[in-house]
Amino acid sequence: MVESRKPGTPAHMRGDAATVGGAPNLVGDVGIASEEVTARATVGAGRPESGDITVPAFDYHHPPDMELIDDCVHCGFCLPTCPTYLLFGEEMDSPRGRIYLMREGLEGEPMTDAMVRHFDLCLGCLSCVTACPSGVQYEKLIEATRQQVERRYERTRGDRLFRELIFRIFPYPARLRVLAAGLKPYHRLGLRGLFRASGLQKLLSDRLKTLEELTPDPPKTGALSKVAPFTPAAGTRRRVVGLLTGCVQRVFFPHVNAATVRVLAAEGCDVVAPKQGCCGALSLHAGREEEGMAFARRTIDTFEAAGVENIVANVAGCGSAMKEYGHLLRDDPEYAERAAAFSKKVRDASELIHELGPVAPRHPLPVVAAYHDACHLAHGQGIRAQPRELLRAIPGMELRNIQESEICCGSAGIYNLVEPEPAAQLGERKAANILKTGAKLLVTANPGCLLQIRASLERMGESVPLAHPMEVVDASIRGQPLDSIL
Ligand code: SF4
Ligand code: SF4
Repeated sequence: MVESRKPGTPAHMRGDAATVGGAPNLVGDVGIASEEVTARATVGAGRPESGDITVPAFDYHHPPDMELIDDCVHCGFCLPTCPTYLLFGEEMDSPRGRIYLMREGLEGEPMTDAMVRHFDLCLGCLSCVTACPSGVQYEKLIEATRQQVERRYERTRGDRLFRELIFRIFPYPARLRVLAAGLKPYHRLGLRGLFRASGLQKLLSDRLKTLEELTPDPPKTGALSKVAPFTPAAGTRRRVVGLLTGCVQRVFFPHVNAATVRVLAAEGCDVVAPKQGCCGALSLHAGREEEGMAFARRTIDTFEAAGVENIVANVAGCGSAMKEYGHLLRDDPEYAERAAAFSKKVRDASELIHELGPVAPRHPLPVVAAYHDACHLAHGQGIRAQPRELLRAIPGMELRNIQESEICCGSAGIYNLVEPEPAAQLGERKAANILKTGAKLLVTANPGCLLQIRASLERMGESVPLAHPMEVVDASIRGQPLDSIL
């Protein structure tokens, strides 16, 4: 049934049943406008765009907060740091424009295709948060908006299926392992090169082509890629920590986890790596609230049972998501306090080592390197200095700055899969800036950035070895040459 409203009555001020969200498990079922109405309000055909009958963009279940929107003074300082504004030059593809659209939604405007497009194009990179002098909490605004979009917007069938495919595979390490096993012959028998040389790659849609390009190499195996459930500290114990092993990280980059454990142990940590699932980062950053909350609750249960003082992440997006659990589960009577306490214990690996003060001796690694800031580390967690200091402390390492370091590489969770064109442009822009440094090694703390940059360099006919900061520090502590990790 289509609801009526008085023009000008803000959606967030009204309480009619058709628009009130209620508990999240009702949303999308009976808590808001019916599916039929939602579809008509968002996919175009028959949408009442004028007159006095519309379905407001947002329901009552955590819409973007008008008080946070009011913090924006429209100064525009964020515009030059916003990747989509740089690409498209459109006000509505800038943080200020998107905040304006959120206000319109709260004031009762419908969720149009155009509005959703501007939100979808946002990378969630949070560069605008760093740039904003007024402290606008855009991360909370876009998270709330994405949740509304995911519940209320009717995507095309192809888009829905593609997103479902991603979310049925990526957060599940067991399924990723099956995928990794299936990919082995493709890589090892050189089928990838053949496939590309044959021109068949051009027949794929942009999304599938990007998926193929981003597919990681088969995981490195062997003793140096194994993570034990418990690793004791070397020497005096300074901290007991739990390692979040991640999903893509665990399956495709087990050697990074193993290096992280060795570094933490060398720096005086007992490291526990309990059996665990996904932390929910991908789901949360894509607006899949219920799914993300379920993953968060399980992760909290797991690390509470492990009895650790800190939870350590070596993936920027995972660390950022876990630091937000307190906000995410604020309405859950059983988990609200526990989630807030959990979030306070989360540390990025470089952040923890910096906090403890490094003690393990470093051996020289003579190389010119560049460090790439993963957005969810630099903008999401404010961690820029710690990994750089760790790397600069390695004798022989020269660390160079990358121009436009604040601009996203286009990876951004699932962004490069669902928005391949702007992601590719950003990837190549980043790769060009990396090449300008003349670095012989690129270091970055996010597997998504690593895959995105590697694919961009390949498209440009270039290549730079890539590594995680923990791999580099581990090689230095063990006195191994860089070649051993590349
Ligand atoms: S999160 Fe990134 S892409 Fe989105 S508005 Fe902010 S700067 Fe722009
Ligand atoms: S910098 Fe902050 S206050 Fe200024 S327009 Fe951007 S979000 Fe608004």
